Amino acid sequence: MENRVYNLNAGPAILPEEVLKEAQEHLFTLPGVGMSILEISHRSKTFDAILADAKNGVKQLLDISDDYQILFLQGGASLQFSMVPLNLMPPKNKADYIITGAWSKKALKEAKRVGTINIAASTEAENFKRIPKQEELKLDADAAYVHYTSNNTIYGTEWHSEPEVGNVPLVCDASSDIFHKKINVNKYAMIYAGAQKNIGPSGVVLAILRKDLLERSQDSLHTMLNYKTHAENDSLYNTPNVFGIYIIALVTKYLLKNGGLDAMYKTNLAKAGLIYDAIDGSGGFYKGHAEKDSRSLMNITWRLPSEELEKKFIDEATKAQFIGLKGHRSVGGIRASVYNAFPLKGAEALVQFMNEFKTKNG
Ligand SMILES: *Cc1c(COP(=O)(O)O)cnc(C)c1O
Repeated sequence: MENRVYNLNAGPAILPEEVLKEAQEHLFTLPGVGMSILEISHRSKTFDAILADAKNGVKQLLDISDDYQILFLQGGASLQFSMVPLNLMPPKNKADYIITGAWSKKALKEAKRVGTINIAASTEAENFKRIPKQEELKLDADAAYVHYTSNNTIYGTEWHSEPEVGNVPLVCDASSDIFHKKINVNKYAMIYAGAQKNIGPSGVVLAILRKDLLERSQDSLHTMLNYKTHAENDSLYNTPNVFGIYIIALVTKYLLKNGGLDAMYKTNLAKAGLIYDAIDGSGGFYKGHAEKDSRSLMNITWRLPSEELEKKFIDEATKAQFIGLKGHRSVGGIRASVYNAFPLKGAEALVQFMNEFKTKNG
């Protein structure tokens, strides 16, 4: 097999090698089925079992109680920017949004079409280099929900604990850091995440929704945009992303087999720690974008002394098989996305490359 590179892409992103190998081995025929996963019916017993595995895997990893519905939806996290307000904002028709980056802003744009939005906090004036502090949040105790983005993929910032929102339902876009550590799902009314960063391939969205919230979804909503439709039909109202859900089943199985999310968190701390240490120990050659107490464990962003050096860094890194390091255009510089599946030895190799590059160019 051809060698694999160090995949630091922001999304779609790296998947565990074990998962890819199992999928490859079974792509031609699923054991005992005589057909590929790409060919089976979503109404078959085989797929029922795969869907159950994926749901149970998610449930076990995050210790999710029966009060929550687990859904696999389509349209990306981006469609949730609309579905969340359409389903959850009525009848109050007002909600709080905490704005910490480009994805929060996109969520806000859709929510404004549905009702009145209070921006509880925004760090845009500081180019989203930090997460707002609890005392900065101007929350409305009567809001239908509070929406926030747990990890800001583009800026490299992350909430290290949930905002305290009292009795108001908390809704989280966790697309780029779900499963990076254990969280207490009971603090949330809803968590959603596009799969392509830390769960599986693109084209499927995991939604974890507290069942009592389904009462808010009105029958006047379009069928496919109504959470009740998907809950009542166990994500099988229409043809789901069969292959995507299959890979999620494999990824959750892999995570459970390898110590679950506590083990994952330990490795994530170690990987990000190495890279942040290289930034902080570079004597100012590398400058992190995020403030230290807002740093993400998943997306690490930094600048070099000039754009010329940044280009050179990316060119040389690419030659050394580190792929996907170019920062998003709104931040510039470098971004290393080190999701769950990115190996510790990859972080060690990247740090060695960073140190050598600094020695030659610093
Ligand atoms: C990538 C990303 C999205 C967009 O996901 P799509 O599946 O492309 O719609 C939304 N929110 C966050 C935090 C992301 O990282």
